This record gives sequence, structure tokens and C-alpha cells, in this order.
Amino acid sequence: MHEISLVRTIFRTLDDNFSPEELERVVAIELKVGPLANVEPVLLQNAFDAVVREDEIRFREAVLRVNMVPILVQCPDCNQITEVHNYRFVCACGKPCGNVVQGNELLIERVEMRD
Ligand SMILES: [Zn+2]
Repeated sequence: MHEISLVRTIFRTLDDNFSPEELERVVAIELKVGPLANVEPVLLQNAFDAVVREDEIRFREAVLRVNMVPILVQCPDCNQITEVHNYRFVCACGKPCGNVVQGNELLIERVEMRD
């Protein structure tokens, strides 16, 4: 399951950026995920629970929040940014448009810690 390795990568990134004392105080990890990132939010939640359980030390108190963001394309002709619905990559001006400016991301948006 590739969600498991994604969660491990996220944990590794947090390890690299925070001290062990800070990591103990993490209560929420918020991700920004685009529909094109090929990630199933439910599977990501399950993977998070599984990795936390097997780790037994880190992120015991943490919850994962997956914030999905819409796909946005920017038209090379008229420069407008349009939200893509149902994978119809068409600009508001009517031209087909594959210039994705949002929708591929899988980012750690915020890490919440208790005092
Ligand atoms: Zn356009």
C-alpha cells in the first residue's frame, strides 16, 4: 500500500524539521492534498493509524487531517485560473487547458502542538 510509505515519508520529514521534544507535543498534522496526487484520504487515514500503532512512540496523541484542494488550471491564452470539475480540463473561456497550477500537491500544511 503506497499510503504506508507516504505516511513514513511524512514522519521522516517531521523528524528532520522538529526536535524530539517538539514531536512529543504534536496533536495534529494537517496535509494539503490535490486530487491528482493519487492519494485516497481514507487509505491515508488508515495508513496513519497503522504506522502510529507500530511506531508506539511518536505521534500517539496526533490526528491526521487531510485537506483536499480543488484542481486549478491556468489558461495560456486568457490567463484565467479555472477550477476543474469532473476532470474536465477546460478554461472558463472555453479553451481546453491542461496547465495545472494546483491539484498535484501532497504537502504538510500545518503541524499543531500543545503548549
Ligand atoms: Zn482561457
